Amino acid sequence: MAKSRALLAVLALLGLGGCKPKELALERVAGVSIAMPLGRTRSASAEPTDGFVEHVEPGRWRVRLSWDPDPRAGPPTDEEALEAAELAHATIIRSAASLRSLTAGDAADRSDETLEWSVDGHPAALIRGADGEALIWRCERSGRIFRLLRDGAAERELAFATEAASVHCHDAHTRAASAQIPSVNVASLGDGWVLARRTSASAVYLRGDALEIVFAGRKAALSDDLVVAAHLAPAWIEAAGLHEVHVAVGEHSNGPQGHPAIVLRGEAVLDGRLVRWSMLSWRCLQHARTYQALVVGEPPAQGAADAANWTGHDGALLAVRCHGSGGQ
Ligand SMILES: [Zn+2]
Ligand SMILES: [Zn+2]
Repeated sequence: MAKSRALLAVLALLGLGGCKPKELALERVAGVSIAMPLGRTRSASAEPTDGFVEHVEPGRWRVRLSWDPDPRAGPPTDEEALEAAELAHATIIRSAASLRSLTAGDAADRSDETLEWSVDGHPAALIRGADGEALIWRCERSGRIFRLLRDGAAERELAFATEAASVHCHDAHTRAASAQIPSVNVASLGDGWVLARRTSASAVYLRGDALEIVFAGRKAALSDDLVVAAHLAPAWIEAAGLHEVHVAVGEHSNGPQGHPAIVLRGEAVLDGRLVRWSMLSWRCLQHARTYQALVVGEPPAQGAADAANWTGHDGALLAVRCHGSGGQ
């Protein structure tokens, strides 16, 4: 069995059969469990959509598992993993996108390599930065992206693989909680917009054929690199239910409530029809969260390109409230 091979590898790492393993703390937080090295200080936040658990040995090391809501599909791309890792001078040591999801293929195709680089069945990217390293994976079953970080140049208490092998990130009994989704001031949207659907990670507003989607915030910082933003955009557009995403143009722009933002515009297919989309990405300093909001509209009949109001509804993006009264 593939699973027991992984277990044997873990036991070997632990040095069982003579040496006693270092003391581990079995953590269960928000439907997530992990065995971590026991540090002198522990902190945790039990938010199912947006929490963490951390052990620190002051002056020596830190191990932290954290998660954010994430409606995107598939293993994280290199850009997505680097964004989530938040490590200075980070490079990809191992890409997740090249690994098959264990939940996809059949057992015969599960190579040892795939197993070794998966966390609870999810292909994981390994990132190394100046001060530490991180494993990044997306758990589609719980709609979250996870980061297992360890830093400190001091001696390692355990191999990274040991902690990763102990993780359970999706639990059938975990209920999706309400994430921190910016509200939309419907009054300033104009007539006809209604809140159509709210999930644990997004809110969808409709007016006729137009729609606006606001995604829950993530703790990871926002890169202000337009090329990176253009690489990250399609996964968000696809998470909104669009296909065949084409990114046409991007620029720095004004976001909601005066936050500097990046706006990207392009085309995609929705329900078999060609549509235009505009997406804002911004960082709310007040909430220390990165947000995405997206509007989708029909191309104008004449096909004229109006960069300032690409979808015909771009103004709706500025009705989003990420902090203060009207936010949450
Ligand atoms: Zn999972
Ligand atoms: Zn804000």
